[in-house]
Amino acid sequence: MRFVITGAASGIGRACARLLAAGTIIPGEHRMLLVDRDAANLTAVAGEIGDAAATAMVDLAETDAGDRIVAEAVAHMGGIDAVVSNAGVISGGALAELDVVSFDRVFAINTRATWLLARAAYPHLKASRGAFIATGSMSATQPTPALGFYSSSKAALLMLVRQLSIEWGADGIRCATVSPGPTYTPMTAAGYADQKQRDRREANIALHKLGTAEEVASAILFLAGPHASHITGIDLLVDGGMSNMLMPAS
Ligand code: NAD
Repeated sequence: MRFVITGAASGIGRACARLLAAGTIIPGEHRMLLVDRDAANLTAVAGEIGDAAATAMVDLAETDAGDRIVAEAVAHMGGIDAVVSNAGVISGGALAELDVVSFDRVFAINTRATWLLARAAYPHLKASRGAFIATGSMSATQPTPALGFYSSSKAALLMLVRQLSIEWGADGIRCATVSPGPTYTPMTAAGYADQKQRDRREANIALHKLGTAEEVASAILFLAGPHASHITGIDLLVDGGMSNMLMPAS
């Protein structure tokens, strides 16, 4: 299959690229365009993958990002079978104190970039009867202290992808989101460096552990691949059961 993966230089996106190259979740040989704004780490990940991977250094906050990515993908692979729109940024603060610049930036990367990429990829996904998978968040459906921009940008993303699933269903294109709960990646590593904080977090997860990037990437690739051929419009929570743990222990 021919994949486009954004946020591929780190964490969950990197794990998608590595699992794809290994053929573990979707057997066979795959080609991929790895997209990120972090040139050094992107080059390193592509180096691990080898000839199957090409890279595109793109800032997804730019409005031409989707068109540029799709042009690169078509030049490299001749078409697209699956898009993994995974890049995202976290942004903290109280809603009463945050400013317009950070609102626009978070929504541009977490939400708008996914629509722009979907719009640009549409003719190619239609041609391949492909799949469009985006990384949401447990925060999309669960208000999260001090993460109001982040959670609401992910809530909009979930609905955007559900909309796509009904608009594109007749073309045979499947669309879904994967929503991780707390997952240990470079995005969150600093927060979990303090063992007490990590213990507190893990006590609130039914499986009593943070997720790994590979566990989330496995769900993304399952949904992108042929074994999910009758699944569309869903949000798959990969949260270790945390969403069922909202009643505090007495
Ligand atoms: P990460 O920080 O390790 O990786 C994110 C990647 O996206 C980075 O390589 C970064 O350079 C890239 N990126 C960010 N902004 C970009 C931009 N404007 N243009 C191009 N690339 C950009 O984070 P991760 O934990 O792997 O997160 C991947 C996705 O999972 C994100 O959408 C995140 O919101 C979501 N998520 C993560 C967690 C978690 O606990 N780690 C939980 C829920 C959801």
